[in-house]
This record gives sequence, structure tokens and C-alpha cells, in this order.
Amino acid sequence: MSIKEIIKIPNPFLKITAKPVIDIDKNIITILDDMLETMYNANGIGLAATQIAIDKRLIVMDCGKTDFDPKDMSEEEYNEKIKNEKIEPFPIKMINPEIISFGKNLKEREEGCLSIPGYNSNVKRPSSIKVTYIDENKKNKTLDANGLLATCIQHEIDHLNGILFIDHISKLKREIILKKAIKEYANN
Ligand code: ZN
Repeated sequence: MSIKEIIKIPNPFLKITAKPVIDIDKNIITILDDMLETMYNANGIGLAATQIAIDKRLIVMDCGKTDFDPKDMSEEEYNEKIKNEKIEPFPIKMINPEIISFGKNLKEREEGCLSIPGYNSNVKRPSSIKVTYIDENKKNKTLDANGLLATCIQHEIDHLNGILFIDHISKLKREIILKKAIKEYANN
């Protein structure tokens, strides 16, 4: 495993639509492991392959595992609970992830991005989703996600379609972040 460089805006690679994975070979397994290591090293909770300049539909996440089921509780109860409960590591690797349905309710949550470090903004997204993907053992999986994980999956799949969280906020806020961040990164 090795830590890869995470590309930042305005790198044009962040705008590409990543290609589906056809063959799940050793190379893909290595990329997924490298992505997870790179994500943990950067203290992130999600990473898409395009953020390490790889043109493949791969995402990794770790939003933690809890000993309760968030499906049984409201967003507020969930947020209260995760403040107090012990959270175990829960790495998820997804190949060719696809959201097949969105819940009706929207939830606003503060998002950040390893490709726009230092800048956060509230983003409104569906609070629950159903996603299909292939895991590293070539098994087809379906996952119902809500809470932080639902946000994280949507944010990471957006990356595979060349979309950043700042594309979901107002033009004014986006331009402020872009201007400041690009200037800051160019100077470092
Ligand atoms: Zn991101």
C-alpha cells in the first residue's frame, strides 16, 4: 500500500467523468487499498479515485460503525447518539457505485473535501439513498444508507461525475471559495 498525492482544485482532472471498471483485477484491489490509506492519512472520511488522478469509478469511505441502527432513529437522535457512542472503523470500498433511489427528505449538512482543503459549506442533499456497487470480492451489493454515510456516498459519487460539493452551493459562495482556495494553494 502507498499514500498517493491528492489533487486539488483547479486541477482539470477533478472535472472528468470517470470510466466504469470492467476487470476487477489485482491492480484495482491495490488502488482501493491505496485510496483508503491515502484517505486515512489525510484524516478524510471519503475519497474518489479521480482525486488521486485515476480515471476509474472507485470510491472509499469510512464514516465509522456504531452498535445501533441509524434507520431506527431520526436525524437528530442519530446526531446526538454518534456524539456519545464509541465508533469503530468501518471502511467501505465501492466499485462502479450507482445510486438507484433517493429518499424524499432533504438534509443540510456541512461538507468539506480533500481536494478543497480548509473550506467547508452547507450542502442540501437527500437524507437517504439506496446504492448498488461491486465489492472487492466481485460481489454485487445493495446498501441503504442514511445520515452521514448517505451524504458521504453522494459526495464521492459526484466526484466520479466531475462534480464538487461547491457545485451544489450558490454561485456567489462558490466563487468566493474558488478564488480564495486557488490563490492559497498556488502560494503553497
Ligand atoms: Zn470531495
